[in-house]
Amino acid sequence: MPPAPVITRFAPSPTGHLHIGGARTALFCLAYARKHSGRFVLRIEDTDQRRSSEAAAGGILEDLAWLGLAWDDGPEVEVAGANLGGDERGVGPFHQSKRLDTYNERIDALIASGAAYAAFETPDELEAKRREAIAQKVGNRYDRAALEIPAEERARRVAAGEEHVVRFRMPDEAISVHDEVLGEVTVGPDEFDDFIIRKRDGFPTYHLAVVVDDALMGVTHVLRGQEHLINTPRHIALQRAMGFNVPTYAHMPLIFNADGSKMSKRDKDKAVRAACKASGVSESPVASIDGATVAAWLKDKTRQLPSEALLELAAVLSVEVPEIDVGDFQRAGYLPQPLLNFLALLGWNPKQKTAGGQDLERFDLDFLCAHFDFGGVGKTNAKFDRAKLLSFNADYIAEMSDEAFVDTWLAWAERYDADLHGRFTREQLVRLAPAMRPRCKTLRDVRTILGFVLLDDAGIDYDGKVLHKHLLKGGAKGLEALEGMRGVLAEVQPFGAAAIDAAVAGYASEHELGMGKVAQPIRVAVTGNGVSPPLGDTLEVIGRERALARIDRCVQIAKAEVSG
Ligand code: GLU
Repeated sequence: MPPAPVITRFAPSPTGHLHIGGARTALFCLAYARKHSGRFVLRIEDTDQRRSSEAAAGGILEDLAWLGLAWDDGPEVEVAGANLGGDERGVGPFHQSKRLDTYNERIDALIASGAAYAAFETPDELEAKRREAIAQKVGNRYDRAALEIPAEERARRVAAGEEHVVRFRMPDEAISVHDEVLGEVTVGPDEFDDFIIRKRDGFPTYHLAVVVDDALMGVTHVLRGQEHLINTPRHIALQRAMGFNVPTYAHMPLIFNADGSKMSKRDKDKAVRAACKASGVSESPVASIDGATVAAWLKDKTRQLPSEALLELAAVLSVEVPEIDVGDFQRAGYLPQPLLNFLALLGWNPKQKTAGGQDLERFDLDFLCAHFDFGGVGKTNAKFDRAKLLSFNADYIAEMSDEAFVDTWLAWAERYDADLHGRFTREQLVRLAPAMRPRCKTLRDVRTILGFVLLDDAGIDYDGKVLHKHLLKGGAKGLEALEGMRGVLAEVQPFGAAAIDAAVAGYASEHELGMGKVAQPIRVAVTGNGVSPPLGDTLEVIGRERALARIDRCVQIAKAEVSG
């Protein structure tokens, strides 16, 4: 019999945004499936009714599509004109909340065989047992009290509609996980109790649903973060009890910050909380969130604010929020290709050399799909090096074509920099691109280069030192050139980059001045400083009227400086 085709799956819980660690899991799952000509399944694990939302699920799908991680089997969605997902093999639906009958069938069978049982303790009773265990300094394991109740009585109480959970009777023996990365991991029976497989609300727990779905969706390889290793023996016990094959497991290293702390969504709250404390904020300075919520959040490190509110608060306090979720990196102007390259190295090493003898680090998704293997996955924590990611992004931008860069920026800015988007024609941007790309580490950096166009003509702040350097020193020659060029610029036809640059060159040679001596005073007048893209382009995007208004005001201020 030919070996079963490789099937991997990424199974996010839609309780928030797609975390960078989740994106890495998805990336490795996709790469492993591609390498073995298999399939990559996407499943939404929304059995936690209270914490899951359809909006979060939609956001995760969009983030995956933005990264270019397309799934073969999974929710069918249209993202950016492309249709992803579908159910060619007929193994869906892919939202666990739509599969309750399937789980209940399996749970009933486990109860019938004695491998699972109903338990009736209320949450309060369980809480009391937990406190007692803490007081006695013993582990809090379920005491199997429900098994003292005769089976028929349990069945009768369930049939009568009494609230209950269903617990899995964990075998009293050690369970070994054979992990492709970590090797043999054996866990003794003391580590586990009879865990819940169906909650009081009738929904299965993660453990039950994940095992049933992996089996029914034909998953052969489970790749996930090491934080799930502790769950794997439970899953193996369930697989055995239900007669399923045990898939191949490979647990990926955890991702840590440079300071050695685990990289977590809470890092964003931590940064903003610290800024609040530093600036003495005790209530809410933004309208979208009330003071009591902020006060409680300030006191309790485990609390998180909704991400929109957090960003608003950060903006008010001018604090940088560390990027953690895929959407954070997108908003910050990172591109999917260098981000994927960087993510792949968080835990995987291609173990190849470049032609120059260095460790190979730069590669694309196709390379990863051709070479990804478990042998290259590390056992120890991966460090998230932000400077390295930034350099990957900058290098990627530096190598893009001007057209690709402009189109990428336009698509990005439409969403994240609406002010600047629409101020330029595509053609103008393509002309500006060679001046911008070497100075842009992220798409957001375009704003520092082109932000001059957004300035209020009557509000530009002219720094005294800059005025002195470019306009006033050496007998105010710069100011003289500026006034002379004002007349030229009022007439030049058309008011486009080429004609403007020619006029500047003409003025310079006529007055026997270097080009810089003419261009710099104008640049300072229209942008407020001595750095901008080529002058003709700079003036063209500002437009004649606004450029002249800026020059007039600058001349006035410079003159006041001279006489004052
Ligand atoms: N829904 C789980 C999570 O998001 C999936 C874990 C797994 O891959 O089994 O953590």
